[in-house]
Amino acid sequence: MSRTGRFIAEAEKWGARNYEPLPVVIEKAERIWVWDVDGQKYLDMLSAYSALNQGHRHPKIISALIDQLERVTLTSRAFHNDMMGPFLQKLCATAGYEKVLLMNTGTEAVETSLKAARKWGYEEKGVAPDKAEIIAFENNFAGRTISVVSFSSEEQYKKGFGPFTPGFKVIPFDDAEALERTINENTVAVILEPIQGEGGVIIPSSGYLTKVREITSANNTLMIADEIQTGFGRTGKLFACDHEGVRPDVVALGKALGGGVLPVSAMVADNRVMKAFTPGVHGSTFGGNPLACAVGMASIDVVVEENLPDRSAELGEYFLKQLRSINSQAVKETRGKGLFIGIEILRSYGTARPFCEKLMKLGLLCKETHEQTIRLAPPLVIEKHEIDWALDRIERVLTAV
Ligand SMILES: *Cc1c(COP(=O)(O)O)cnc(C)c1O
Repeated sequence: MSRTGRFIAEAEKWGARNYEPLPVVIEKAERIWVWDVDGQKYLDMLSAYSALNQGHRHPKIISALIDQLERVTLTSRAFHNDMMGPFLQKLCATAGYEKVLLMNTGTEAVETSLKAARKWGYEEKGVAPDKAEIIAFENNFAGRTISVVSFSSEEQYKKGFGPFTPGFKVIPFDDAEALERTINENTVAVILEPIQGEGGVIIPSSGYLTKVREITSANNTLMIADEIQTGFGRTGKLFACDHEGVRPDVVALGKALGGGVLPVSAMVADNRVMKAFTPGVHGSTFGGNPLACAVGMASIDVVVEENLPDRSAELGEYFLKQLRSINSQAVKETRGKGLFIGIEILRSYGTARPFCEKLMKLGLLCKETHEQTIRLAPPLVIEKHEIDWALDRIERVLTAV
C-alpha cells in the first residue's frame, strides 16, 4: 500500500467519519503549495475554507507565533495578558468598531453574536421575555452547534439532532420583500453571509445588502454579518459588506483572523450592543489567549501590509474572466467576487466531486460545495502566473467531458 493509502486507512479506522476528504495526505506546506506523503506537489485552491488567505506558514505570522511561544501562551481570562489589549485595539481599528469579544472558532463567534442580539433585544429593544426572534436565510452556513444548525436549511446538518433551538425564522436569501414581510417587533436580529460560501458562492443582487441594512435599521433590528469566510480580503474588499458601503451592527469574524495557524474568532460591535455582556455572562477558556492574540495581530498586519484585498480584486477579476472564456458544456455558471469563485456544474454532468478528483490528479486541490459547485479560493498571496498554471488544468478537466 502507498504511504497515502496507509494514512487514510488509519484515519478511517480510528476517526469519526464526519468528513469525506479527497484522497490526499498532506505533510508539508508553504505559501500556496502543499506536498503529500508520497512527494506530490499541489496548489491549494481551497485555503482551508479561507482560513489561509495569507498563505501557508506566512513568515511574519510564524515568527509572531514563535516569539510568543517563548513568552506565555495561555493565561485564561481570570488574569490579564499583555497581548490582548493591543490585539483588540488593532481589530477595532481595522474593522471600524468600538468593541471586540474574542472567541476561538467561527461557530463560537456566531453563537456569541446571537446571544448578544437576544440580550440587546430584551434589555434595549424591550422585547418580552423569551419572545426574541432572529431571521436567517435559506442556504446559510454558520457552523454546526445545535443552536446554529437550528436555522440551517440543509437537511443533513439537522436530521437526527433535534429538538432545535426555537426563535429562528428562515426566509429566502436575496429577497428583500421576504425580509420586509417577516421582520416584526420581536425581531432582534437578521444574520447573513454577504456572500454565501458553503452554499455555493451565492452572490446576492447588487443593492441587496443596502436594502437589508435599511430594513433592519427601520425596524430597530440588528444586522449581523457573518464574514467568517468572506472577511479579510477574500472577496476583493477587506470585508464583503464594504462592496456596498454597508456597516452591520455586529460582525462575526474567524478563519483568516488566525492566519492559518490557530483558531481565532471574534464578535465585533459598538458599545451599544457589546454592553449586553457583563462579567460572568459569557466566556471562553481559550478566547483571548496571548498566543492567539499575537497570531491575530500578525494575521491582520499581513492582510493590510500586503494589500491582500486589492490583490484579490485584481487577480479575481482576471481569474473569473479567463474561467468564463473556457468553453465547456458541463458548466452551468461561473460566478465570483475577488478570489472567491464558484463553477457550478450542470446536474446532467453529475456532481462537482469527480471534477475535483480529476483536478487533484493534475495537482490542484479544490473541494466541491453543495454538490454542484467547484469552489476556487486560493490563498490571496497567489501570483498571476500561478493562476495561469491552475487555469490550464481547470480548462483541461472542464473540456474533457
Ligand atoms: C466556516 C464558517 C463558520 C464556522 O467556522 P468554524 O471555525 O468552522 O466554527 C461560520 N460561518 C461561516 C460563513 C463559515 O464559512
